[in-house]
Amino acid sequence: MAFLKHLQLLGFQFIPLQRENCDDRERELENLRLEILRCKACPLYKTRKNPVLGEGNPHSILLFVGEAPGAEEDEQGRPFVGKAGELLTKIIKAMGLERGEVYITNVLKCRPPGNRNPRPEEIKACWPFLERQIEIIKPKLICTLGTFATQTLLGTQEKITSQRGTFKEWKGIKVLPTFHPAFLLRNPQYKRLAWDDIKKLMAEYQNLKSRDV
Ligand code: URA
Repeated sequence: MAFLKHLQLLGFQFIPLQRENCDDRERELENLRLEILRCKACPLYKTRKNPVLGEGNPHSILLFVGEAPGAEEDEQGRPFVGKAGELLTKIIKAMGLERGEVYITNVLKCRPPGNRNPRPEEIKACWPFLERQIEIIKPKLICTLGTFATQTLLGTQEKITSQRGTFKEWKGIKVLPTFHPAFLLRNPQYKRLAWDDIKKLMAEYQNLKSRDV
């Protein structure tokens, strides 16, 4: 207290508290990207062109998690930039947001050859990267896109059809599973259900955002 009085006498009206530097998360994510570049924990590093860490606002309260990079993502080193990405971008816009306002990543950071499904051992090898990424970004809401993201994050074997549209929790973070955009492109009859999920996601996003300081 005496110290505070002393500061006041010296003319300080307030003490500027150090908030987390805006660049800290970007720097940590960049370090993660460099680690992924060196990673040989599964064989996918041999066939991929570029690892895909993820992109977006590292301070967003909303994180989308997909499955794995496809051909276009592998080419560009960016997530969801192919056909499924176009639909995801439309979904984000329909939520009243810009792509750059949220963060987008995948379970696997390297493309499985021929876009085959991720293998359990690849998911296991890549999981620490996603876990660290979530720790860095600290989202309040995660939308898992499709079976692999949902099963991986929630540690379940349940199908996406039984998981979608209801909020779950992972380490205190709300998780809403929904269909993968690539699935929706192949099965447009499910878009209506997906839109029901997205409306729930929007409402929760607005709710959390209004409480975010
Ligand atoms: N599908 C995914 O799951 N992720 C991408 O980045 C692209 C397509």
